[in-house]
Amino acid sequence: MRLCPLCNGLEPSPTPSMLCPFCKTVMKDEGMLEGFYEPYSPYLPYEILDLVDDVDSERDCVHLFCCPHCGYDQRYHCPLLTGPEFT
Ligand SMILES: [Zn+2]
Ligand SMILES: [Zn+2]
Repeated sequence: MRLCPLCNGLEPSPTPSMLCPFCKTVMKDEGMLEGFYEPYSPYLPYEILDLVDDVDSERDCVHLFCCPHCGYDQRYHCPLLTGPEFT
């Protein structure tokens, strides 16, 4: 079984290492990118479809981080935890 530490609250959010490249503000975790596929939002911008195109869902959980100061957003590929303790 694979677990995303961010989704499961195993790592602090926002992640301290995620700093906005423009204003150095700690970026905010907007959640899994997959969350944008919720059925109640049928109209997906093509950019979002492009964003998830290269996602290896077997390996990473992709989160969208957003800078609360300047609005810059960025994907973060969070490595999944694996191991017998999660089975
Ligand atoms: Zn996650
Ligand atoms: Zn910023």
